[in-house]
Amino acid sequence: MVADKGKESHQHDVLKSTQTVIHLALDKLGYPEEVFELLKEPLRMLTVKIPVRMDDGKVKVFTGYRAQHNDAVGPTKGGIRFHPNVTEKEVKALSIWMSLKCGIVDLPYGGGKGGIICDPRDMSFRELERLSRGYVRAISQIVGPAKDIPAPDVFTNSQIMAWMMDEYSRIDEYNSPGFITGKPLVLGGSHGRETATAKGVTICIREAAKKKGIDLKGARVVVQGFGNAGSFLAKFMHDAGAKIIGISDAYGGLHDENGLDIDYLLDRRDSFGTVTKLFNDTISNEELLELDCDILVPAAIENQITEENAHNIRAGIVVEAANGPTTLEATKILTERGILLVPDVLASSGGVTVSYFEWVQNNQGYYWTEEEVEEKLEKILVNSFQNVYDTAQTRRVDMRLAAYMVGVRKMAEACRFRGWI
Ligand code: NAD
Repeated sequence: MVADKGKESHQHDVLKSTQTVIHLALDKLGYPEEVFELLKEPLRMLTVKIPVRMDDGKVKVFTGYRAQHNDAVGPTKGGIRFHPNVTEKEVKALSIWMSLKCGIVDLPYGGGKGGIICDPRDMSFRELERLSRGYVRAISQIVGPAKDIPAPDVFTNSQIMAWMMDEYSRIDEYNSPGFITGKPLVLGGSHGRETATAKGVTICIREAAKKKGIDLKGARVVVQGFGNAGSFLAKFMHDAGAKIIGISDAYGGLHDENGLDIDYLLDRRDSFGTVTKLFNDTISNEELLELDCDILVPAAIENQITEENAHNIRAGIVVEAANGPTTLEATKILTERGILLVPDVLASSGGVTVSYFEWVQNNQGYYWTEEEVEEKLEKILVNSFQNVYDTAQTRRVDMRLAAYMVGVRKMAEACRFRGWI
């Protein structure tokens, strides 16, 4: 009970802090209060009940959500999370972040997000299939290739996307690969989707390092989290000549000043991004974040850098691969200390960018090579980084506020042209 209360208030904070920065960004851009009133919450929020026949013959009823933040620019887009801690507030905040990301990398989308309260680690393959199909039936009226396009998020993967695409295609009576992204290649997935978030973070690190005069060759890097985002990122940075001196997962961290053996760790991690359990000599996540390094990448969960530890961070650059790892108070402290912080809504936008590429390829029925995908991703992220960086310099604001200013501008303009405000 107490834990649930804590969870709610923490997620309230995530929504509230996002709203605080949106308000500031709109103020800086000179928009009136009604624009904030329109953008502070999703336009639509659907709550559904999904009855699922479990393997023991009993029916379990799950709760799911789909939030559509704003569809002025185009259809909404965003992942579906399967997690026991999913709440309505979290899904709302995540949908707003998706709108900002789409605005920053200039995609013709608004933000959406979905979630189901469940623990896929305790469910069988067939139970997961029934839950995935049930969720699509429950939300089918408000989603579709030109309305709202889902994708994977925490604890959902390409198999789940495949079941969902198949279910939607049956309802639609039409093969609809453009209904969802993050599919297996054979069902219309895109090359480069699995590693897209880490690739995007790598590009942002490279661009930030140039600004700070840090050479990536030999740079000391610390990565918190060794799942999809963190592990591929560690690999890409290692391949670029950096020294990964620290990594962690939910159970602790590994530290070696001479550089960790990333290929070995990648080989030994499980599908939930756990690897440190195999070692005795570990450090805590708190100690990991305070290691002396050139580049620190939080790639795990929210609220890791707070006013409690922001003064002890010893990195030149912090690049947020995770959503919401740094609080607003900590952002202020890091900025005052001259640490360059590349915010989540910019740094982790590689995933939605390649999801957009997948949707475009599905719509045109013509597929690109991995090189084409990488080249297009590179161009978009380099331009987006520069745009946010220039905004921060010319408007004399931190990179987070600059990213929000870039992110909300197109959405606010689209609302105005449509006559909504
Ligand atoms: P994941 O589930 O694959 O991995 C999460 C990692 O974080 C695991 O190594 C896990 O052990 C670790 N972790 C969990 N709780 C922790 C704790 N309390 N302390 C330290 N480590 C902990 O997830 P992911 O897909 O890699 O996502 C990580 C973050 O990046 C999330 O915030 C996610 O929203 C964000 N993100 C991911 C993508 C993507 O495409 N994967 C895109 C955008 C943003």
